[in-house]
Amino acid sequence: MSLTARILIGMAAGFVLGSLIHAMGLDPDGFLRAFVVDGVLDVGGRIFIASLQLLVVPLVLVSLVCGASNLSDGAALGRLGGKTMALYLFTTASAISLALLVALIVQPGAGVDAETDVTFEPRPAPSFKQVILDIFPTNPVEAMAEGSMLQIIIFALLFGFAVARAGAAGVRIKSMFEDLNSVIMRLVTILIWLAPYGVFCLMATLFATMGWGEIGSLAAYFFTVVGVLLLHLTVVYPLLLVVLGRVSPRVFFLKMREPMLVAFSTSSSGATLPVTLETVRARLGVRNEVGSFTVPLGATINMDGTAIMQGVATVFIAQYYGIDLSLSQYLMVILTATLASVGTAGVPGVGLIMLTMVLQQVGLPVEGIMLIIGVDRLLDMMRTAVNVSGDGMVATVVGRSEDKLDLERFYDMNASIDNEDEKVPTSAA
Ligand code: ASP
Repeated sequence: MSLTARILIGMAAGFVLGSLIHAMGLDPDGFLRAFVVDGVLDVGGRIFIASLQLLVVPLVLVSLVCGASNLSDGAALGRLGGKTMALYLFTTASAISLALLVALIVQPGAGVDAETDVTFEPRPAPSFKQVILDIFPTNPVEAMAEGSMLQIIIFALLFGFAVARAGAAGVRIKSMFEDLNSVIMRLVTILIWLAPYGVFCLMATLFATMGWGEIGSLAAYFFTVVGVLLLHLTVVYPLLLVVLGRVSPRVFFLKMREPMLVAFSTSSSGATLPVTLETVRARLGVRNEVGSFTVPLGATINMDGTAIMQGVATVFIAQYYGIDLSLSQYLMVILTATLASVGTAGVPGVGLIMLTMVLQQVGLPVEGIMLIIGVDRLLDMMRTAVNVSGDGMVATVVGRSEDKLDLERFYDMNASIDNEDEKVPTSAA
């Protein structure tokens, strides 16, 4: 049975079991609740997420050192970085523009009478100066221990660049890193094999503790976000894949199923990164030089799905409080949300912090976030799947434009790490 089928079965079984437990209305202090939901299932889900996160730092470091050591010169890196950043910013800005447009037509906040007893304590966003300074590591070991993705990327790029210029020593080190890369990729495939059990536990825990009642008065908001997410996924990405990448969107999405399902279950682009990177390199055929840079960067700064939630939420909150925003304020929302997606790299629960920044920027009450928090967990799952497919899309398009997309592998539906020669191809040779 294919891995996708097994993951889907795990998700469905988790959903059914969780919903049954929820319907039984288990006593929150009871033994069954403590032993099954908060015990076995919660532990299983957390171990799955931990096992994915465990791979992130070694994977990014090793694959990016290999990638950078194959980039011929600084100009190649500059071009790669420029194209990737431009596409990430462009897709985020179009995602939020689309969300604003649809929300202004649908009017999800008009006439809503949402009651909430949730409190929301906005976490302070880092200053712009700090954001810039935080990208540059002072200590690579600390960067890795803290999992500071942008710092790890900078260190790996510099190191890989030096490897390429260090003569015989560089050749030896490069070969060692390429071997490590193959081993870590193998480790990723081993852990992905456990994904069906992991997603089963995550789904069961979530649906055992969460009801559908919250959607009630927020249905218009909820379904507007879902609609725009689908629109972005099925119109904007395919368009970019066809126009800029000249590849089949159908094949792309068929191959991206697994990272999208894992993203949906874990609600974390960061934890999904190992699955995304393996898919992009081994299944979509993006060369390591491009994939190892674009995917970790994307998992950190590219959040189209999150931007969509913010666009709809801004309009919803403005309408709820009966505040009219001007055109220049909407433009400000687009700008702030796009920059905030870069500025909040590595901050957990990033979506709501970014939303706080956007609301403050245009003078809307930050407490408005309390209104939508009830349905945020479900939306987080869906927008994370969109975030991750956006990373894969940009990697594919940039790979194609840099002539670093192996088309034969892209169209080979059986392509996987298993039918590869010993090593993941690290150069176009
Ligand atoms: N959960 C999202 C992600 O990791 C971010 C967010 O929307 O909060 O991609």
